[in-house]
Amino acid sequence: MTRKTSNSQAAFERARNVLVGGVNSPVRAFAAVGGVPPFIAKARGARLSDVDGNEYVDYVAAYGPAILGHAHEEVVVAMAKAVRLGTSYGAPTQLETQLAEAVAAAVPSIEQVRFVSSGTEAVMSAVRLARGATGRSKIIKCVGCYHGHADSLLVQAGSGALTLGVPSSPGVPAGATADTLLAPYNDLPAVRAAMEEHEAQVAAMLVEPVAGNMGVVPPADGYLQGLRDLCTRHGAMLIFDEVMTGFRLSLAGAQGLFGIRPDITTLGKIIGGGMPVGAVGASREIMKNFSPEGPVYQAGTLSGNPVAMTAGLATLRLLREDGFYENLEKTSAAIDAGLRQAAAAAGLQNRVTFHRVGSMLCCFFAPPPVVDYKTATASNKAAFAAYFHAMLDRGVYLAPSQFEAMFVSAAHGSAEVDQTIQAAHEAFAAAAKLL
Ligand SMILES: *Cc1c(COP(=O)(O)O)cnc(C)c1O
Repeated sequence: MTRKTSNSQAAFERARNVLVGGVNSPVRAFAAVGGVPPFIAKARGARLSDVDGNEYVDYVAAYGPAILGHAHEEVVVAMAKAVRLGTSYGAPTQLETQLAEAVAAAVPSIEQVRFVSSGTEAVMSAVRLARGATGRSKIIKCVGCYHGHADSLLVQAGSGALTLGVPSSPGVPAGATADTLLAPYNDLPAVRAAMEEHEAQVAAMLVEPVAGNMGVVPPADGYLQGLRDLCTRHGAMLIFDEVMTGFRLSLAGAQGLFGIRPDITTLGKIIGGGMPVGAVGASREIMKNFSPEGPVYQAGTLSGNPVAMTAGLATLRLLREDGFYENLEKTSAAIDAGLRQAAAAAGLQNRVTFHRVGSMLCCFFAPPPVVDYKTATASNKAAFAAYFHAMLDRGVYLAPSQFEAMFVSAAHGSAEVDQTIQAAHEAFAAAAKLL
């Protein structure tokens, strides 16, 4: 396959001179798959164009936000209007109230909202809120779940006791993660043991209700309800990190899909309609602990930014339209079925594992079952890289890592689906040689 890459190559070289690794978020550098990342010139609907003039069907969706596809006309028009009214005031606006009302109306567990500018900030603030509200220090998180890059959450399983974490990055002092306990995903007994061992010390259980940052790993039957029950029994808060799943799996996120009510929810990605927005939401009773009503400090110069609020409002308005999630489900199911068929045609049944929850998809180059970080990371990364590059060369842009989700948007139509499945037949055949 010949794909012109010389302009991206030149752009990457120039970028690497002044940006670390040429990027501002590490996965974009293609380290896991090798090669040069296409530098993007523009995007519209389900398609991206790079600086060499190549076009791609996009399944990265900006790592989640682009559920409407890119540059949706209604969102663009609303934002352009907002920009003319000034881009930031450092004072309250009605837009913030309107978006908060829309969030509270969509998500039953949320009565009040605090807006921030990223998912990282949202989770960091949610953890502080849970600790402040309970007067407890410890939190439990799952191995392989990602919650942004706050110090206390950059933690990996230590070699000793199962539940004690150690920093996963230089620069994070041991003290910052000393109160972070770890449990494998989908492992209720591990959470129960941690709660019992640290009775009356656990402020919160923090979890992605559908894990989307080790590939896509759905919760086992009863897992989320089990976490809910354990938190209630031990007086800990259940924090659903719905930065990825919020407004994606349903208007009420994963909690709406699975019918579980967390105490605190974090949102990001889709809520900003492609602009930097994150949010913490909970009952008034819990939220009143935040400053200025309560003692838990939280602030942000650009929080509630009017252009970002406008993008979020326009996006949520479109998500509320009749049949939005039903249509997204149909497209996602068609892509999933087509990919499975393509893998089977390449002789890969039972050598790859497909997961799909709504419009979040993933193909692990590992045999089933994939239920947690350990089983997910058993994937064959060389086979994934071959699949990835074969797809890219055929104009299908997947996230450049085995451990990212594939996101479907409302802009993906039958032309995109067909192109994807056709490419997948050849890509799985290329990967099969390495398995
Ligand atoms: C993306 C993500 C974050 C971090 O959000 P940023 O906006 O990148 O800071 C946190 N939690 C989950 C579940 C995510 O998917």
